[in-house]
Amino acid sequence: MGYSQLAWERAAAAVAARALREVPFYRERHARGRGLAPVPTEELEGRLWALCPLSRPYRAMTEPTLWTGDPADLAAAVRGCGAGGGAVVEVRSAVVPWDRLGPLGPRYAPVLSPTATAVDVSASDGPARALVAGGRTVLVSAPEDVDAVQGRIGAVTVVVRRLAKVGEPGCLAVLHDRHLGYFATRPTSCGQWHLLWRRFHVAPGDGGVLVTALKRRRPTLVRVAVDVGLRQVAECSVHGTPVLQA
Ligand SMILES: [Zn+2]
Repeated sequence: MGYSQLAWERAAAAVAARALREVPFYRERHARGRGLAPVPTEELEGRLWALCPLSRPYRAMTEPTLWTGDPADLAAAVRGCGAGGGAVVEVRSAVVPWDRLGPLGPRYAPVLSPTATAVDVSASDGPARALVAGGRTVLVSAPEDVDAVQGRIGAVTVVVRRLAKVGEPGCLAVLHDRHLGYFATRPTSCGQWHLLWRRFHVAPGDGGVLVTALKRRRPTLVRVAVDVGLRQVAECSVHGTPVLQA
């Protein structure tokens, strides 16, 4: 289905209404008169229990964290910037047990960031090395880690830069936040920052943008304020879907 702004706004409103009904974090805020006020990311840290619906609470015994991200978001970000069609290697601070990004998604391997807390960050590089040796591979990495990681796993086909703030025009890049995950992607075809609009809603806000995760309920993330260096939401004249603008 194509993009419709009305449907997009309705989807975000439905997620917000459900959060106020079913998710303790937003119910508590609502009781204090701040139900849908922007949520600073610092408030999310350590609130995993409160960010899950009452019907499916967070269980610390079996779930070490819920901040590992959604493999489907990464697959959509890579596809969205035009780098799809190969295996994906992602630089992370902790490894994840995924070998594909979703049941029908591309093959995948994580590699540890040079700055990760580990005795030997290259100890878990085997699967990534095998993907690189096997053919077309896309590396998703913070710009400062690209050279060191390729030194460990071999030269990849395409590099997609993972940024917390917009910058470096002209290269393939994705926007990432530690709590929200991947929510925007910049293809070189138009050079604009495209929102992953099927998966996230973004509204303009003071000091940044307000991001709502449309697909994920654990944790539920509604109107999370992030400063990405752009504040407006507009439609791309080439693609007809929402983009971030200054
Ligand atoms: Zn575009």
